[in-house]
Amino acid sequence: MGALPERAVAMLAAVHARPGLTRAEASRVLGIGTGGAAEVVGRLVGERLLAEGPVVPAVGRGRPTRRLTAHPEGPLVLAAVVTHESWRVDAVELGGASVAGLSGRHSGEPAGAVLAELRRSVEDLRARFGDRVRGLGLAGPGIVLDERWLDATVLGWTDVDLWSVWPDAGVLVADNDATLAALAESRRGAAVDARLALHLRVDAGLGGAVVEAGRLLGGARGAAGEFGHLPMGDPAVRCACGARGCWGTAVDGGALARLLDAPEPRDPVTYARQVLARDDDAARAAVATVAAALGRGVAGLVNALDPDVVTLGGLGAELLAAAPGELDAACRAGLMRFRGGTPPPVVAARLGEDGPLTGAAERVWDRWWARLRR
Ligand SMILES: [Zn+2]
Repeated sequence: MGALPERAVAMLAAVHARPGLTRAEASRVLGIGTGGAAEVVGRLVGERLLAEGPVVPAVGRGRPTRRLTAHPEGPLVLAAVVTHESWRVDAVELGGASVAGLSGRHSGEPAGAVLAELRRSVEDLRARFGDRVRGLGLAGPGIVLDERWLDATVLGWTDVDLWSVWPDAGVLVADNDATLAALAESRRGAAVDARLALHLRVDAGLGGAVVEAGRLLGGARGAAGEFGHLPMGDPAVRCACGARGCWGTAVDGGALARLLDAPEPRDPVTYARQVLARDDDAARAAVATVAAALGRGVAGLVNALDPDVVTLGGLGAELLAAAPGELDAACRAGLMRFRGGTPPPVVAARLGEDGPLTGAAERVWDRWWARLRR
């Protein structure tokens, strides 16, 4: 397959963004006539990149049209996620649906052992789907430099080469899980159509990203969005990053443990979920304090960045559900007066735990469109 004309790539991207789009709608979105759209669709169906559904009856004065979807033998991307306790890889078709997936758990073994397991599953999916697979996107639980090298403090992993999972993939890109979740929310979640979306994800740390008009603000080396290390926490608390007073240390399982006079938890995420599930005054008070610390920091970022929506993922969404009043009050108290009348909504991420995986797939599709244009 050679390079595709721009309007054919735009058609693929439009159907990817809105699977089930009709041919008539696509011709409007792309600003090409119905004849032009029919020609482009014909070529894409012929190259097994798109499929057309049955005829959709005419509406009003329009003509009958057809819905456009992924071709059943069409391109796939692999999207993989490594968390502090598990891994997963899905094969994702145009439009974002998973057609197959493999997953497993780990208990913090050396990175090489975990990635070797993931690599075997990637090889299984490649063997199953052959040259339909166009690339691999990976989400890691830490800073990912230059789209490749993972430092995961929580696992004690440094300079881990994520590309070792499939070194010669056609498209190969890795990024931080919270960053990818941010991209996913802006494409298929609670921040679709936002001019500037702020996503914050709390799990073993607090990360996130800013997405402006659908584009990630990644930073010079791809490490932007480490909001958990803004010094908005207690200066007496030392963070695993080496600094003191990091905001992330005020909103995680470690913060809950300190408030409850419990020892530092080995797994702060599991511990936080246990506290959130408790039904006693001490646990409720600790959750309220941590939710307020989250809300205060959100106010600081809203003042600085001017987002039109803030999405919370991971434990952030669970804190919002458990103590919405405390989180909201602390946020409002920290907002500049001119924002008080129209503060941006602070909502749970719609994609939940699927966010990083969905975002990893989106990054590969973005790169693949660029290749098709060459
Ligand atoms: Zn820190």
